[in-house]
Amino acid sequence: MGKLSVVATPIGNLEDITLRALRTLKECDVIYAEDTRLTAKLLARYQIKKSLQRLDAATEIKKANEIIARLEAGEHVVLVSDAGTPGISDPGARLVKAVREHPYILKDVGVLIEAIPGPSALTAALSVAGIDSSEFTFLGFLPHKKGRQTLLKKIAANEFPTVLYESPHRILKLLKELETLKVSHVTIARELTKIHEEVIAGTPAELLAHFSAHPSTIRGEFVVIVEP
Ligand code: SAM
Repeated sequence: MGKLSVVATPIGNLEDITLRALRTLKECDVIYAEDTRLTAKLLARYQIKKSLQRLDAATEIKKANEIIARLEAGEHVVLVSDAGTPGISDPGARLVKAVREHPYILKDVGVLIEAIPGPSALTAALSVAGIDSSEFTFLGFLPHKKGRQTLLKKIAANEFPTVLYESPHRILKLLKELETLKVSHVTIARELTKIHEEVIAGTPAELLAHFSAHPSTIRGEFVVIVEP
């Protein structure tokens, strides 16, 4: 029986990988990775030598048939993204859907699709934000243009915390937009699990003042949590 393992990998610190993820990476027949060079670094750190193939957002659908053929042949295929959990603002969902819906696999061969859970910037940020996350909305990256204003208004009116991913190029723009919408409390988790890890919270105006006083910190990766 073929197997597709969807494996979570570190979001920065290479030690953040589960024993099961490492065993799976060692045992599988092939690894499909969003960026093979990046995943090669992770494999080198754990002395794993494995065939690496590329599967990114642009090739996900095209590669699905190739992967299905491997699964039909009984291979153990691993899917990883650049960081964190595949399918969370990363490729993965369309491949898993294609495998799940493939009639031959379902009826005649039987393929196990398994999750090897681990890090995600979403859960890491919530775990250190100190806010009630019993209910929250995750929107990933906001659209740059179409639909952005509508979504921002929904975020400002949301009765639950909203978690967003943001790039350093757009973080100030986002904070200014949240200030205009009179959002009162925002938490920013930056560079989680890395040397410059930082969690700061305040009004959008306070955070803008912080970044203007420390411009060198407008870099790296950001999770933004907008509180109701
Ligand atoms: N699949 C990933 C996950 O499970 O978190 C998310 C991939 S998404 C393409 C990348 C975005 O996640 C970054 O732009 C940033 O917003 C967030 N992110 C990833 N690593 C992070 C980190 N170490 N600290 C803060 N945010 C991070």
